Amino acid sequence: MNLTGTRVLVVGLGRSGSAAARLCVSLGGEVGIVDAKQEVEKSEQAASLRKLGVELILGPHRSRDFLEADMIVVSPGVPLDLPELENARSRDIEIIGELELAYRALEGVKIAAVTGTNGKSTVTSWLGKMLEDSGFKVFTGGNLGSPLAEIASDPGDFEWAVIEVSSFQLDTLDTFQADAACLVNLSSDHLNRYGGDLDKYYRSKISLLQRLVPGGKAVVGPDEETISRVNGLNADLYFTSMDRELDKGAFLDGDVVVWRDGSGREEVYPLDGIRVSGIHNKANALCTIAMARLIGAGMDGVRSGLMNFDGLPHRMEPVGKINGVSYFNDSKATNPAAVAAGLSGFEDGSVLLIAGGRDKGTGFKELSDQVARKVRILLLLGEAADSMEEELKNKVPLVIKCKSLKEAVMEAASRARPHDSVLLSPACASYDQFDNFEHRGDVFREIVRSLNP
Ligand code: ADP
Repeated sequence: MNLTGTRVLVVGLGRSGSAAARLCVSLGGEVGIVDAKQEVEKSEQAASLRKLGVELILGPHRSRDFLEADMIVVSPGVPLDLPELENARSRDIEIIGELELAYRALEGVKIAAVTGTNGKSTVTSWLGKMLEDSGFKVFTGGNLGSPLAEIASDPGDFEWAVIEVSSFQLDTLDTFQADAACLVNLSSDHLNRYGGDLDKYYRSKISLLQRLVPGGKAVVGPDEETISRVNGLNADLYFTSMDRELDKGAFLDGDVVVWRDGSGREEVYPLDGIRVSGIHNKANALCTIAMARLIGAGMDGVRSGLMNFDGLPHRMEPVGKINGVSYFNDSKATNPAAVAAGLSGFEDGSVLLIAGGRDKGTGFKELSDQVARKVRILLLLGEAADSMEEELKNKVPLVIKCKSLKEAVMEAASRARPHDSVLLSPACASYDQFDNFEHRGDVFREIVRSLNP
């Protein structure tokens, strides 16, 4: 791919925006970045991009910057209905995301793409580990860690790129095709971005399965009925199931994953001894094993990767035990299904749950059953505190609204009894009080560590 003589405008100076800008420079493009936040001026990224000759245009967007571009690359957080983008679209200026750009530039590396509402990062990292343990040279990243654009112009000896793909990234693809794809699951999320239309969000996720190379294979978590609603799907699908036997796909039999490739062959992968807990991680294991085997990982490598994966920070991460009370950081649980999955692993009535933050339009009804069973005290934070209280107050003995995460942890610590667990699992985005979910989890970890035993 050669961008000589092409004026590229990157929208958003985040991790993916700066990777896209660097890639465009390396491909010979004339590159500008716009970002509405003036304060990014002081970031390290801004300085290093300037050195490369990238023009930084910070502050309120100006239509002319968009109209002067030959191609616009948008970051995942940027709303696609920005007036400046609508305007550019009406003039036939191409608008793509960083992943599409990276895909066009990348040569000689196969792509395994993972999407879904929850478990994307876990499956992506776990799959990367299984492939590495099987001897493949693997890049693991995408929406998690390093964007694909980081390696696109110089992939070295990578054979496979295992990438997490968000729905926002899926919405800005054009020619992208994966060699293997996984849709881990579907549940309510991001309804603020999809105008309250759950079907639109689901269609976005499922669209990954329509983006496979001919003969490409896909592993699917959601049920067949949901998937069959999509027209024009001719992918070779392998389903997964937690509760029934399948002739083709991966299913759980007690504590063992059974993998059937459809030819009558069967393999088993025991899950006792894996280092990640919770029933949801068994569902993730089904998807990961199936993907790894379809890609060609050996059985020994799959078994090794299965056993030696430690999980990721901010996902049910144990952060301390003080006076017999265990503390868990599940800051990445930003929708009701993720919180319900986390809660399901605790004993009834033993959880002091810290939740709330920025509402994503999902409502919290999906949480009701698990909250009613597991939560003794609900501590609520942030912009969503009132609506969460309204929807969940009849499900728990006590609701306490707190001004800050610190206040919530202190309150929980003073009320917890030995054998209880204090769980940060917000069901909301973090942006009302924190930079991102990592920042929220890091602050929680620090507060817990500062508690005196
Ligand atoms: P994602 O990248 O899709 O956000 P993660 O692997 O980072 O997924 O996990 C995000 C949250 O979802 C965590 O709170 C985790 O405990 C929960 N989770 C992980 N896998 C699943 C699953 N299969 N079903 C429901 N919740 C899950």
